[in-house]
Formats: sequence, C-alpha cells, structure tokens
Amino acid sequence: MPPMNVLRTLVFTVVAMSAGLSAQTGGMPWTTPTPTEVDAIYPEIEALYIDLHRSPELAFQETQTAARLAARVKALGFDVTTGVGKTGIVAVLRNGAGPTVMLRTELDALPVQEKTGLPFASSVMMKDAAGQLVPVMHACGHDLHMAAWAGTARLMAEHRDRWRGTLVMVGQPAEEISMGASAMLNDGLFTRFPRPDFALSLHDDDTMPAGTIGYRPGYFRAMSDSVTITVFGRGGHAAMPHNTIDPIVLASRIVLSLQTVVARENNPVDPVVITIGSIHGGTQGNIIPDQVRLQLSVRTYTPEVRTRTLEAIRRIARGEAIAAGAPREPQVDTPARAGAPVYNDPALTLRLAGALKKGLGEKAVVEMPPKMTSEDFVQYGLAGVPSALLHIGAVDPAQLTAAREAGVPVPAPHSPEWAPAIEPTLKAAVRAEATALLELFRRNE
Ligand SMILES: [Zn+2]
Ligand SMILES: [Zn+2]
Repeated sequence: MPPMNVLRTLVFTVVAMSAGLSAQTGGMPWTTPTPTEVDAIYPEIEALYIDLHRSPELAFQETQTAARLAARVKALGFDVTTGVGKTGIVAVLRNGAGPTVMLRTELDALPVQEKTGLPFASSVMMKDAAGQLVPVMHACGHDLHMAAWAGTARLMAEHRDRWRGTLVMVGQPAEEISMGASAMLNDGLFTRFPRPDFALSLHDDDTMPAGTIGYRPGYFRAMSDSVTITVFGRGGHAAMPHNTIDPIVLASRIVLSLQTVVARENNPVDPVVITIGSIHGGTQGNIIPDQVRLQLSVRTYTPEVRTRTLEAIRRIARGEAIAAGAPREPQVDTPARAGAPVYNDPALTLRLAGALKKGLGEKAVVEMPPKMTSEDFVQYGLAGVPSALLHIGAVDPAQLTAAREAGVPVPAPHSPEWAPAIEPTLKAAVRAEATALLELFRRNE
C-alpha cells in the first residue's frame, strides 16, 4: 500500500489534470485546428492521397475508393452507409444538439492519361460507360479533396468534446459526369439521413497559391451541357474525293463555324464557351469515312444564353451539312435536362469567409471571380440546403509567379499534368474545412 502522502499527491495530480483539460477543451471554443494538430495527422493523409492518386476510378465505378474512405470514417466512430446513389457513401457523426452540417468530397477520376512524371503517377486503365478501355487519372484533384475530407473527419471525431451538432460526411460519386449529386439525392440523401442545415465543399484551383482559400458569394460556376454531333457523308477511296462526301472536311468546318457563335452571335458580356473536346472519324489515311462524331462541352450562365447557344449549334451543324451536300442531316444530341449554375448562398459564404480570415489570416482568404467550369454540387442548393463551394489554391507560389511572368498558364485541373503542391494544399484544406465546420456548429460555450 502506498503511503498516504503519495496517494494524496496522486489524487491531487489527477484532479488538477482533469481541471486543466476542461479549461483547455470544454471552456475554450475550438475555432481552428492549430498547425500542430494538422501536422500530427499529416503523414496519414498524405499516404492516403498517394494511395488514392495511384488507384483512380471512373464515375460510378468508385467502389474501392468508397470502401477505403468508408473504413476510415467507420474506425473514427461514424455511422457509415455505402452504396448511396450507386457508389456514394454517407458517414454521420451525431454529437449532441446543434446544427447538421454536410461536407462533401467527390470520389471519381477522369479518363486522362497521366503525364505528371510523379513517382506515384497512375497507370490505371478502366472500361468507361461505353465499354471502351481508357486511361484513368485523378486529374481534377478529387484525390486531394478525399484526403483532406478524411483528415477533417479525424480531427472532428477526435475532438468531439469541443463542438456540438451532427456532422454528415458525404463521398459523392460521378461529379465529372454531373450525375452523382442527383443520384445521391434520388437515393434519399436528405430523407434517409439527417437533412443538413448547410452543405459545404472545397475544390482545388490552379489560379491561387497553395493553401489560399477562395470564396465567391452568389453565382460562381457555369452551367454545363454535353452535346454530341454526328455528321454523315459518303465514304470512299482517298484518291477519289469527287465520288465521296467527306465528313472529315464537313466536321472541320463545323468546328470552326461554331466559334463564330461565341465571337459573332453572342453578347460579349454574357459568357459562353463552346469546346469540341473529342472528334472521331475514319480508320486510316487512304479511306474517306462515312461519318464523324464530335463531342462538345457548352458552358453558359443564363437559361436564355444556353437556349440560344444550343439552337445556334443545331443550326450551324445543319447549315454546314447542307453546304457540303451531305446525304443526311447531322444528328445533334443535346441534354434533356437543363443544368444550373453553382450558386453560393451569400450569407453563408460571407460568414465562412469571415471565420476563415480569423482562423487562417486575412491574406490567406480571398474573394475570387466566377469560373466557367461547372459542378454538380449545385444540386444540394437546388434541393433547398444553403450551400457554399469554396476553392483552395494548389500551385506552388514560385511556379505561379513564374508562369504569370512568362504568360504561360500552369497546368490546370483536367490537364494530364495537373499536379497539386501536396503538403501546403492538403494541410490548409484540412484547417479550412474544420474551421468552416466549427463556425457552423454550435460550440459548447
Ligand atoms: Zn473536374
Ligand atoms: Zn473536380
């Protein structure tokens, strides 16, 4: 038996320690994780990032990716459901009375052949939805978003004595084909699980130095429409063009004429982008094929401009086919449902910007201009949940300065060379996400 004075010292020490702990956690609101708190989890999330980068999966095929994330959040004590909206995951942490806040990451990668030269570059090949074997790469940084999401989940779970509310961590499939958010909503994301009071997401960005947070109240991302044009000609021998109607020449004319929609038909103050990202026809040089297929991406901000642009595309395709003497009208497939531009709830966005400036410093948080890229994150807002999509710079500052001086942009998301500056971006992403969540949760004051 220990002598009395030793026992008394022991009791005193334990009491003093627990009092100190409650003064540190219970008494003081936790508003931003410290750099030390993030450093402690960094090796784990960097390893996850590298692992995810090496093993990307295409839209609605993200089963391994989802399983990896699900196992992690399950181990942290989240209530995890997989297979939501086909391959999505929902992880819920109920932590007392308070708001419900959703943090979403995307799970999917792109059919891009990686050319970063990184030691952990992807060499994955997969069958796409059409059954075609394609190279796959996390060329949009969704691997980075997932690693940050996992880090944030860990910090929130380990410090659950320092906030109150319900945290809903969502791993959304198929963002790149604009179908995953709707798939999850149709599968009961807001009915089978706690309906969020707020929804947040963070996307990497090529225009800001690594770690800088960008926010934009109101309209932020454009509407996106995928359009397919198939033009028909008359095939034949390459040496006898007079006996054919060459669909490659016809398709080429359409490609160039379409740019006049932007340059000559559209009001310059209304943004429009028409990109022909894929053109396929023919098998070899000495054969004139009988058809060519073009795949377009059309970006607009308003329904009027969208309707006018899609109509102009149909008209030009038809007109050029007539001019070429094509045997058949081109087939132009436009999406049945209208997209929507991402709208960041202004009050929410400004509230988060304020909290982020306080937590990360004024200079680290900047207002950014709207972009022509699109995001199906808009669906959560359309479903009635105030939402904010924030951005995070992911480029080495020196590289960004050099690129600006040279006038040559750095590789951006969707480029085979997109390689975010991992450590500063990932660390800042976790701090920003946790700061945003803590701002929205009722603190245990
Ligand atoms: Zn993307
Ligand atoms: Zn993306």
